[in-house]
Amino acid sequence: MTLSPAPHQDFFENYAEAVLIANADEKPVLINAAFTRLTGFNKHSLPDTKILFGQTDVLPKSKKPMYWKTSLTKLDGHPIVVNVSVSKITLPDESEGRIYTLTESADAEHLQILLRESERLLLKAKQEIVEQDKRIVQITEELEQLAYVVSHDMQEPLRMVTSYIQLIQRNIEQGNTGNVVEFMKYVSEGAERMQALTADLLQLSRVNRKGNNFAETDLNETVTVAMAHLANQIKETEAKITVEKLPKISGDSSQLLRLFQNLLDNAIKFKDAKRKPEILISVTEDESVYVFSVKDNGIGIEKKFFDRIFVIFQRLHSRAEYEGTGVGLAVCKKIAERHGGDIWVESEAGKGSTFFFTIKKK
Ligand code: ADP
Repeated sequence: MTLSPAPHQDFFENYAEAVLIANADEKPVLINAAFTRLTGFNKHSLPDTKILFGQTDVLPKSKKPMYWKTSLTKLDGHPIVVNVSVSKITLPDESEGRIYTLTESADAEHLQILLRESERLLLKAKQEIVEQDKRIVQITEELEQLAYVVSHDMQEPLRMVTSYIQLIQRNIEQGNTGNVVEFMKYVSEGAERMQALTADLLQLSRVNRKGNNFAETDLNETVTVAMAHLANQIKETEAKITVEKLPKISGDSSQLLRLFQNLLDNAIKFKDAKRKPEILISVTEDESVYVFSVKDNGIGIEKKFFDRIFVIFQRLHSRAEYEGTGVGLAVCKKIAERHGGDIWVESEAGKGSTFFFTIKKK
């Protein structure tokens, strides 16, 4: 309902004190110009009176006005202290309403309330700065680590490419072209490896930069898609994958797909030569988080490597044994963190591993 102040419009609009009329549900229906001047709110930006003035639980039962003093946050975020008076009135449609009158308070108590409010804001700002600082330190550490591993790991294929090119050049100069085709194979292998590394690095940086908005995601569907993407590996290894009923959660669906797919991919890839992969995906929950797990019966991981494997480019095997770039779990970690969660592993070498990750509930 919006009230039309028609007969007394001029009087109401130009009344020196700030006035607000609300209905019985505490929804403002009319304010005057002084109210906008004092608080910054106009009729389009007004919150309910409970939010504006607090203390509206004890409203007058009769037409006798009630008074109190409260701090009010203006539209621009600044606090002011106001004397509020409220009276019960009957609105033109005969329904019950209230009329609030506001004057800015300027006594010692007022100053104290303002001081307390400013101190609270200052403390909040300080805490935000501390949090920001922590984030900056973390990002710097990550960047340093990344720069180190990138330069280190990129060196290897780069060295291979350069040395074989030099070898080819020398051989050609000496008119000895017999091995050139074989050497070229190493050159292209090195180049392909660099391509794989940069593609994976790009994937990692995308998790941070190009995240989608969170939306409701049915993880049963997510895992079905991940399994479809890995259909060849599943068929070749005759992997048996059991998936318990999973929840619908709020998240970035393409990142969640990547997370499950990377873990499944590893669970199949790091299989024990003596047995077929058996994988179980399950979930538990508490009040604040879901805990997902991907359990395999593969080669397992020694305890001392439990942290290292989540660092970019860190691998425990040569590429001849198991293909890979060592970026998959670093990506999983970033995705879990973006969803307010964490990731870790429990494993026994030779028996299998269980990767756990948490996702914060909304
Ligand atoms: P990639 O698979 O490309 O090597 P990841 O970051 O996905 O890179 O994994 C890092 C390392 O962690 C792997 O090289 C492997 O040594 C170990 N690892 C990951 N998943 C498993 C698993 N399910 N079982 C045993 N080892 C694993």
